[in-house]
Amino acid sequence: MKTHASWDFDTDVAIIGLGPVGATLANLLGIAGIKTVVFEREAEAYHLPRAVNFDDEVMRIFQAIGLSEEISQDVTLSPGMRFVDSSGKLILDWSRPSVVSEMGWHPSYRFHQPDLERVLRVGLSRRPNVQTRTRSEVFALDADTTGVTVRFEDLTNGRLMLCRARFFRVAPELFTASHTPASPLRSAPAAAGRSIGRFRPVVDFRSDYNFVRRGKAFFVALRRRTK
Ligand SMILES: Cc1cc2nc3c(=O)[nH]c(=O)nc-3n(C[C@H](O)[C@H](O)[C@H](O)COP(=O)(O)OP(=O)(O)OC[C@H]3O[C@@H](n4cnc5c(N)ncnc54)[C@H](O)[C@@H]3O)c2cc1C
Repeated sequence: MKTHASWDFDTDVAIIGLGPVGATLANLLGIAGIKTVVFEREAEAYHLPRAVNFDDEVMRIFQAIGLSEEISQDVTLSPGMRFVDSSGKLILDWSRPSVVSEMGWHPSYRFHQPDLERVLRVGLSRRPNVQTRTRSEVFALDADTTGVTVRFEDLTNGRLMLCRARFFRVAPELFTASHTPASPLRSAPAAAGRSIGRFRPVVDFRSDYNFVRRGKAFFVALRRRTK
């Protein structure tokens, strides 16, 4: 009987989550000619922005995947941000110079995340070795000594399917929920050594202060949470 470890691999890398990081990684792997499958629960990229800013190193990566020209059409140079408390007192002055850095790009760009994600997805459509599976929800990752078995549901018809990969990368939300019984990562205790993802803590805070645009800089007040 075949064991998991002896299964043929369907792909070299499985990427769970087609957010901006997953899509950028898939483009990099695509350029390198590495066979990749991306699983994404949703049909489309989320229609509202979360991130607003990226730097010259990130633009350099977009250049490496051949998308900097398209992306730079939709961005504006950012002068940085000033963070103030609820009384307006400066906490942090994060001004960004307008020079071109050693990366060949400016130190800070503002962007509209849905536009950026659209360009990244267009980039993927040009990579024959990258298969993108939208409406596919991963519910389990079974890691062993040679790779990982990705178990997922095709949400268009309810079929349960699997994909065998040598390496995988998961979206941050799977890591932050990895201790919960419903997490796909609960079944992958050996996965840490093979994962090319990283733990990323998420901190929520509340503020009574509105985001205000003054001149070219954004201001935001952080208020210590009392309860
Ligand atoms: C309010 C806010 C502001 C931010 N501002 C910035 C900023 O200015 N600059 C910056 O660089 N970063 C910023 N970040 C961080 C940035 O948004 C994240 O680092 C980035 O989105 C992570 O990208 P990702 O591709 O790893 O995952 P995500 O963007 O979280 O995407 C994950 C994807 O995985 C899919 N998914 C999840 N679980 C499954 C599953 N089981 N099966 C299939 N698909 C699944 C989801 O549908 C989603 O599409 C901000 C984050 C927030 C919340």
